[in-house]
Amino acid sequence: MSDTTVDLCILGAGAAGLVAAGTAAAAGVDTLVLEKGRQTGIKILIAGGGHCNLTHECSVNRMLEGYGAARPWLTPSMKRFSPKAVRRHFDRIGVPTYVGEWEKVWPVSRSAKDVRNALERDAIAAGAAIRTDAPARGVERTRRGFAITTPDGEVHCSRLLIATGGRSYPKTGTTGDGYGFARELGHSIVEPVPALVPLVVDAPWVRELSGVSLAAVRTRLVNTDDTVCVESHGPLLLTHKGLSGPAALDLGGAAARLAKRWVDIDWLPEVPLEAVRARLRDAHALGRTRIARVVAEWLPERLVIALLRDVGVPEERRAAELPVAERDALVRAIKATRLRVDGTLGFAKAEVTAGGVPLAEVDQDTMASSLVPGLWIAGEVLDYDGRLGGYNLQAAFCTGRAAARAIASA
Ligand SMILES: Cc1cc2nc3c(=O)[nH]c(=O)nc-3n(C[C@H](O)[C@H](O)[C@H](O)COP(=O)(O)OP(=O)(O)OC[C@H]3O[C@@H](n4cnc5c(N)ncnc54)[C@H](O)[C@@H]3O)c2cc1C
Repeated sequence: MSDTTVDLCILGAGAAGLVAAGTAAAAGVDTLVLEKGRQTGIKILIAGGGHCNLTHECSVNRMLEGYGAARPWLTPSMKRFSPKAVRRHFDRIGVPTYVGEWEKVWPVSRSAKDVRNALERDAIAAGAAIRTDAPARGVERTRRGFAITTPDGEVHCSRLLIATGGRSYPKTGTTGDGYGFARELGHSIVEPVPALVPLVVDAPWVRELSGVSLAAVRTRLVNTDDTVCVESHGPLLLTHKGLSGPAALDLGGAAARLAKRWVDIDWLPEVPLEAVRARLRDAHALGRTRIARVVAEWLPERLVIALLRDVGVPEERRAAELPVAERDALVRAIKATRLRVDGTLGFAKAEVTAGGVPLAEVDQDTMASSLVPGLWIAGEVLDYDGRLGGYNLQAAFCTGRAAARAIASA
């Protein structure tokens, strides 16, 4: 056991911590990163199913729309380290990227390990020291800065960056330690809830269709006053518990905060409601063709049968015999099926955490704590969460970078 003294100590070698370490060390700051896990960047390694969707291909302004209420706060750091700049950065550190479906940006190698390795290599090459298997157990303020307790002794530093992530996927080791550290130092915490998380719905017919997937639906989470809280557009997967896939995950954070909520699904967003109605009306000319077959030109047959049953249209109903009331019910089912959301699958299955250190307590340009001199906070431990598609790594990268730049010039 021996004590260490450094200028900057970063807690957490994840996306934010590694970018911050590379940036601060390159600017000449004596930097030590403490990582609780046996290796760095565990969440980077599992991101995007092991392929790592590291940002999104769009303008900064459009990207910012993906963070809800945190949008204004994230604007300065994201303008300075934009999705395009992130791609250039990865190109420079040996990870060329490409744009895939839904504007998601991936490493050309399709390897999350390449992303993690490049960030780690860059930080070490710049002069940062990284200790793995080195959990911070406690943080205290001292006369000259901070003392961090680790199993191998104390680390003393004049500047501290908390980049310990959220508490989703706790089996990876991210169990929300940063909230405790921030609290000990005087910050408040907005209650963390799981986000980008599958939804549990009460409709048995959805669970019976487990495994059915749709390439693109539109979803809306609505509350008791019918207010749309959040919406999404993308692939959807029906599961034995409810709904998964991007169009469901995007609603998870808002769903976790509401006591009563419903999801409205437009199964056919690319066909306007009037066109659906007209098609079903004109199907009259198809005579004895089953109406289920007509709708199955658009949607998977199993789903069509379930929708017909749900709205009380007999499965064998012929196109020429569809009463107006049944046609209207079917149009409504196709364009706006409403399902009650009973909950989410929780932190164990959540990709990110909503909640954390309130943004009002952290400077949006520098990530400096407005309560504690010498303290900076970056990444998912902060109270923002982005939608699916590279938004969360992008936010971790740009807040980590902003913190390091400010630390280097402090
Ligand atoms: C399954 C899954 C898939 C995902 N896929 C994507 C994706 O494709 N694209 C995307 O943009 N986002 C994705 N995300 C989200 C993204 O990984 C996170 O938002 C991002 O990694 C957050 O970065 P961070 O640096 O703030 O935290 P993290 O990357 O979680 O890093 C925090 C680090 O701090 C360490 N730590 C925690 N406590 C301590 C302590 N006491 N002492 C020392 N170290 C500590 C942790 O071990 C961890 O390494 C995914 C998440 C999951 C779970």
